[in-house]
Amino acid sequence: MSLYEVPITKLSGIGEKRAALFRKLGIETVGDMITYYPRSYDNWSATTPIAELQPDENCVVRAKVATPVNNIRISGGRTMAKLSVCDDTGYLNLVFFNNKYISSMLRYGEEYLFMGRVAYDKYGYQMVSPEFNKLTDSETITPVYHLTAGLNNHMMIRAAKEALSMLPAEIRDPLPADALQRYDLCPLSFALNNVHFPADLQAMETARRRLIFEELLTLNLGMRLMKSQSHEQTAMHFCDDYTAEFIEKLPFTLTGAQQRAVGDCVADMRDKPSPMNRLIQGDVGSGKTAVCAAVCYHTVKNGCQAAFMAPTEILAQQHYETFRKMFADTDVRVELLTGSMTAAEKRKARARIESGESDIVIGTHALVSESTVFAKLGCAITDEQHRFGVAQRARLASKGEHPHVLVLSATPIPRTLGLIIYGDLDITIIDELPPGRTEVETYFIGTDKRDRALGFLKKQVEEGRQCYIVCPLVEESEGVDELQNANDYAAELMLGPFRDISVGILHGKMKAKDKEKVMAQFAANEISILVSTTVVEVGVDVKNATVMMIENAERFGLSTLHQLRGRVGRGEHKSYCILVSDNQGESTEQRLGVMCRTNNGFEIADMDLKLRGPGDFFGNRQHGLPQLSIADFSDTETLAQSQEAAESILRTSPDLSDEALRPLRAKIRKLFETTENTMN
Ligand code: ADP
Ligand code: MG
Repeated sequence: MSLYEVPITKLSGIGEKRAALFRKLGIETVGDMITYYPRSYDNWSATTPIAELQPDENCVVRAKVATPVNNIRISGGRTMAKLSVCDDTGYLNLVFFNNKYISSMLRYGEEYLFMGRVAYDKYGYQMVSPEFNKLTDSETITPVYHLTAGLNNHMMIRAAKEALSMLPAEIRDPLPADALQRYDLCPLSFALNNVHFPADLQAMETARRRLIFEELLTLNLGMRLMKSQSHEQTAMHFCDDYTAEFIEKLPFTLTGAQQRAVGDCVADMRDKPSPMNRLIQGDVGSGKTAVCAAVCYHTVKNGCQAAFMAPTEILAQQHYETFRKMFADTDVRVELLTGSMTAAEKRKARARIESGESDIVIGTHALVSESTVFAKLGCAITDEQHRFGVAQRARLASKGEHPHVLVLSATPIPRTLGLIIYGDLDITIIDELPPGRTEVETYFIGTDKRDRALGFLKKQVEEGRQCYIVCPLVEESEGVDELQNANDYAAELMLGPFRDISVGILHGKMKAKDKEKVMAQFAANEISILVSTTVVEVGVDVKNATVMMIENAERFGLSTLHQLRGRVGRGEHKSYCILVSDNQGESTEQRLGVMCRTNNGFEIADMDLKLRGPGDFFGNRQHGLPQLSIADFSDTETLAQSQEAAESILRTSPDLSDEALRPLRAKIRKLFETTENTMN
């Protein structure tokens, strides 16, 4: 029987109540406990003599208990335990709060290891609530687990130890023997034991590297399998090229890069035995929508429907308006389908989609709901794909018989990661902006200069321009309602500096109808200053807007800031971005400094990756990847090796049906079974 079938309650000291806490951490079985890897380790081997302790540093001290424990009652019914310990070089005072067991755990005259932050006051060195350990030479490195309220690290350590003791002597290794050898990886049982309780640092590294490799390999294989399934069948072939006649109707000439993108798509849809599976990557404002429209027109003229899925209502709405204009003097019928439409509206729209009366359908997630049925879907397009999960994209494609697939992204991604996230997607890069764009001038200011900045906005409005203000972020924990916050902020402006100016509010929690109304008013220049939360982040296009002012700029990722800035500088007027922040931290200065220095999205993404690390940058959720338990994408060498191994395995067994690969198949299933419910 697999340990994944043995409930966690089989471990001693874990009853139903405690099991509920483990479940919060995703641990339901003994197997889950074994694969619940430590988030870090405490190294007890590097001890510091007491005389050499440095205040404010985290240190390990090897010392004897030199005084009895003194239990003191303090206010609020709490207790404090005080004692001193010593080594050959000096004394150290220890303080513990609310732990009545200290006197039984720390015995006078015995030696222990203490780990904690060192403080220094008039009584000498001190540690408050240090971790401590009885001296054992075999366990100098101890695991530190992610916890939840009610579970402490000691309980986790106990559970992990007992779970590991239940491992059978012979475990079947999911990794093929030749991969183990080729990449110099340790056996599974060594890895599992040493990832929790490493014999030494070297063993810990060896164990982790193997498990990271295994997880990345599993991820790679899973992603590739998903893709290859969509490749099995032949597609519809669109032999006649209709894009030229559409492009002629556009009010502008396509840039060279846009033209190449259209050409790539047309070729994919005509020549290949399998459907198009292409990613178009282009900075904000590079004109991806027009490319998409041409592809949609081409699809419709070849007798099929096209679907265009956007991540937000506002964006879907805007694409719909844009398309309606672009297709005004054609016979192509454009349909909108979003979650906020009334039941009756949706029903009618769906009926037209199912009967084939609609040619191009633009919408939100509503497009992939079960009740949406296409008469003949030939091309499925996803905008700002990083907001959707892999599975959602796949679900849109499943609405047709292996339709062509196109995804659009404004977020550049390094190649190794692109391979995982996009698998075998072909990539077109739009590296040219439409003519006449000027760089957005960017400033980073403290709140002391806010009034001056608002004065500048006012002047822009007097010259006929419009501005966005992204209002200060609030977190739920601050107990302030987001909507209330936006309202208050706007009210303050309307009563103060913008008394004579029309100010509008746009907020994520507003009804779609109200949002639309505000957006329409802004687009018609009936609203001069739009105060919003980040809902304006994607796509919104108002050429007359020239200032983007962002409060609490330090709270946003660089990519988000870049997207926000992309809302201005879209027309002929000189545009500005003002980042407001009082955060003096070095990383804030660095990050906001990058924004001031460059307008290049690729450069900014690179910087973001360097400053924040890939873990944050490629938040798994963002990309709809499964939750990883030990790997992240920062270890590029292991990443590359796992990719190589995946390719080699797929060469010999393209669908992994090989009997020897059964354990690996089970791993893939397990990894991906959580994907669906971790996605938004
Ligand atoms: P993004 O790539 O960020 O989605 P959009 O498709 O929204 O960019 O295009 C940004 C703006 O540029 C739109 O107002 C669009 O009409 C305009 N545009 C697109 N292509 C061209 C072009 N070749 N020449 C001039 N303007 C263009
Ligand atoms: Mg766009």
